[in-house]
Amino acid sequence: MKHYDFIVVGAGIFGVTAALALRQRKYMVGLLNPGDIPHPLAASTDISKAVRMEYGADLEYMDMVEEAIDGWQAWNEQFGDTLYHEAGFLMLCKHEADRQTFEWSSYRNLIRKGYRPEHLDDAAIRQRFPAFASGAYREAFFNPRAGFAESGRVVRTLLAYAAELGVDVHPRHTASRFECTGGRLTAVHTLEGGRFDTGQAVVCAGAYTPYLLPELKPFMKSTGHPVFHIKPRRPDLFTIPNLPVFAADISNTGWYGFPLHPREGVVKIANHGIGLEIDPDHDERVVTAADMRAFREFLRENMPALAEDPVVFTRRCLYSDTLDGHFWIDRHPEITGLTVAAGGSGHALKMAPALGDMIATVAEGGDHRWAARHRWRVLKPETRQVEEARYKKY
Ligand SMILES: Cc1cc2nc3c(=O)[nH]c(=O)nc-3n(C[C@H](O)[C@H](O)[C@H](O)COP(=O)(O)OP(=O)(O)OC[C@H]3O[C@@H](n4cnc5c(N)ncnc54)[C@H](O)[C@@H]3O)c2cc1C
Repeated sequence: MKHYDFIVVGAGIFGVTAALALRQRKYMVGLLNPGDIPHPLAASTDISKAVRMEYGADLEYMDMVEEAIDGWQAWNEQFGDTLYHEAGFLMLCKHEADRQTFEWSSYRNLIRKGYRPEHLDDAAIRQRFPAFASGAYREAFFNPRAGFAESGRVVRTLLAYAAELGVDVHPRHTASRFECTGGRLTAVHTLEGGRFDTGQAVVCAGAYTPYLLPELKPFMKSTGHPVFHIKPRRPDLFTIPNLPVFAADISNTGWYGFPLHPREGVVKIANHGIGLEIDPDHDERVVTAADMRAFREFLRENMPALAEDPVVFTRRCLYSDTLDGHFWIDRHPEITGLTVAAGGSGHALKMAPALGDMIATVAEGGDHRWAARHRWRVLKPETRQVEEARYKKY
């Protein structure tokens, strides 16, 4: 039986970047995931995810994404493929600017870091971004150093690279039990009858993490969020540069979206709100009639050219949602050799180029400049989400 230095449980973006980073540190690594990889139900399996430095007053996330964007461009070069599209990021504001908003704080912090985002009034929005209804937004901020990543293709590309470097990829294996001796991990068992001999494992099971490790249930839950793909009758209005990645008064509505997808030919729009609590194994993951009504209303008011166009795909995608919205990356306090890396809380994909190094360092017992806020912590039930872009209508 092969002995692994590390078994990584889950091959979404947390798992694949962790496996790659650990293998680059010369460990013998095995990667487990149910079914095929990328798994169709994984949060990381998607046509696009936003990459933005805009995090309101939060400079640490802004720094992390700033470094990640260099990583995204390096991956484009390394793999000779445009996995990350630098389409820019547009923050639209409905209300007379209260200077303490997510948008204004992000704008000020970008300037503090030496960027020159544009501040647009209603007329400039109409002229530059004709997809939005005239007068729907009072002002906006446009930052060209941002865009979207084709996340499903990113996972597929990194997985192939990891395998090339010697990671043993084990699809159709679902971790079900951690075998321990004297509080120390000795093996990972799977539902499919596998036993993987190892002294160390990293659990990157996304929304399933609190179900695999119930001790995390008080601090992390699985929440479902609606996603819509719409086929525009006037694609010209929605292509870059007419439409970049956008946040439509996001902290007050949750709505955000993407330009026409270069491969799929659709406009993806989703809602970054509190979502619905979902048991990933038992509950349906569907977009409701109420979601669809809210979506159509949003379009009618703000993007009328899309209001009657056909929705060709919907999905309720799951966040691995910590109560405070920070990730969960730390060694298990009671099981020696077990590390958890999850809790993406709807905003981790953009950090992918920086994630692997952080997870591998923490799994080795080291410290990392961004690890502190993601460490194991006790969160009270009344803890609130802190990520400023998130629409928090509790
Ligand atoms: C609707 C939506 C929109 C989002 N938009 C953005 C965005 O615009 N920008 C951004 O930065 N982030 C965004 N995110 C967040 C981002 O997608 C996630 O934070 C990230 O993809 C989480 O990665 P993960 O590896 O933790 O989880 P996942 O990608 O879900 O991967 C977990 C993997 O673990 C596997 N697994 C589960 N249980 C087991 C087990 N027992 N054994 C083995 N394997 C197991 C699953 O099959 C899966 O492959 C969004 C998320 C959603 C849901």
